[in-house]
Amino acid sequence: MASRTAIVDYVPYLIGALGVATLVFVASLFGILTRPEGLLAVLWPANALLLAAFVRVPTMNTPIGWFAAFGGYMLADLMTGSDPNKAMWLTFANMAGVAAGLVLIRRLGPDDRNMRRPAAILYLCLVGGAAAITSGLMGILVAIIVFQSNPAMAFLFWTTTEFANYVVILPFALTALRWSSMMQVMQATYDEFQENWKAARAGLPFFSLIVSMILVGVIEGPSAIVYPVPALLWCALSYRLHFVALLIMLMSMWMMIELELDLLANLPEGADPYYGVMSTRMGIAMLALGPLTVASTDRARAALVERLDHAANHDFLTGVLTRGALMPLGQEMVDHVVAQKGRLTIMVMDLDHFKDINDTYGHAAGDRILVEVSRVIQRNLRGSDLFARLGGEEFAVLVPGIAHVDAQGLAQRIRKAVETASIAAPDETRIHTTVSIGLLCRDLEKPVSLDGLVNEADKAMYDAKRAGRNRVVER
Ligand code: GH3
Ligand code: MG
Ligand code: MG
Repeated sequence: MASRTAIVDYVPYLIGALGVATLVFVASLFGILTRPEGLLAVLWPANALLLAAFVRVPTMNTPIGWFAAFGGYMLADLMTGSDPNKAMWLTFANMAGVAAGLVLIRRLGPDDRNMRRPAAILYLCLVGGAAAITSGLMGILVAIIVFQSNPAMAFLFWTTTEFANYVVILPFALTALRWSSMMQVMQATYDEFQENWKAARAGLPFFSLIVSMILVGVIEGPSAIVYPVPALLWCALSYRLHFVALLIMLMSMWMMIELELDLLANLPEGADPYYGVMSTRMGIAMLALGPLTVASTDRARAALVERLDHAANHDFLTGVLTRGALMPLGQEMVDHVVAQKGRLTIMVMDLDHFKDINDTYGHAAGDRILVEVSRVIQRNLRGSDLFARLGGEEFAVLVPGIAHVDAQGLAQRIRKAVETASIAAPDETRIHTTVSIGLLCRDLEKPVSLDGLVNEADKAMYDAKRAGRNRVVER
């Protein structure tokens, strides 16, 4: 029995290793097949993808995972006819870079790894730089031992190529959506487009990027590389970071192929291609930095606005809506119900003798009761209902579209749920509370103000207090 459990425990790691081997194999094949005759590959996505996979999927970064990566690199090289000795050295160089990158990237916080901070891309540059230099140093060994070529040139060439690949691919690989979220996003985009064809305007930045890339091919020259900058900035300000990173990666890869083939085709007979190629690759990598920074700054800003927005509209103690946030949202709901000639239920609730709880157990216990009561009420509501703390120990609930009997049933359910709820007192006993509820259930046909409706429900609540508390009174 024990050994069976042990094998089952290994399954996620074996699946992880299989994933690593497949990823590295496919990415290496891609690199090998796009490699110009006699040069290092233009596009070598395997290393950056492997680094990101090790960071994002813990079951991949294991000793078997590293073995699997080695196998993936080797298999791709051997299958395309490389010499085994040469393939092994190249693989060591690749993996040394990934290892160096991994050591550094793990020192970054999650905000930097996920590019949620403006400076994130600069840190990722450092990671890519360290990984590239490590591969470059290995490249010196490879040049001396395997190729008997110029070690200084080997270092420069490996380092720049690796750096360009890390800068272009790592942001994509670190922020790429998982499969299920990607399907959701695609579905949402499709629905939006179905609902309103004007949503297609969102495609304009992307379209401008395509146009700028066509220009790169048409108006050739030493500065063609920067033509996509305005379109990239537009994309960075319009789309989410993961999509921007994808666009930048695809554009850079395409530019690397296009510009490099151009360069090689126009090279004078016998000229040295190295400096031109290195400069092109570095240029394209550097080009990506600006838009990526804009995208991650924008992401950080959006997250901050969302946090502030939430803080402004939600009560800090209970987390439910504030009165200030309820009124406009509630009026919107009222208007909607009026337009549909539907029914609206409003409840105003006030805890009974709450002052006594504060006086007996202290203000902190009172606070905990308020939190517990909000939770209990929330559990009885649906996503379309509105629930707010009007102030102190007074709450309001707006429920659209339910029948009169159901409104009464809901109010009684909430009353009973509050009655049964409790929190622990300092002396190990339980603290209980009750609630008085004013209920209003109206068929709305003419425009009316939420203020008036809440006032009326408030009066019903005071009737409930006068009638003895812990009850529902309807008006
Ligand atoms: P009633 O049944 O008539 O509503 O009696 P009550 O004691 O609940 O009514 P009253 O309005 O006199 O007291 C409300 C109390 O709620 C007074 C105030 O100290 C307390 N309170 C208001 N806001 C908070 C809060 O955020 N935390 C705590 N712990 N107490 C609060
Ligand atoms: Mg009260
Ligand atoms: Mg009160």
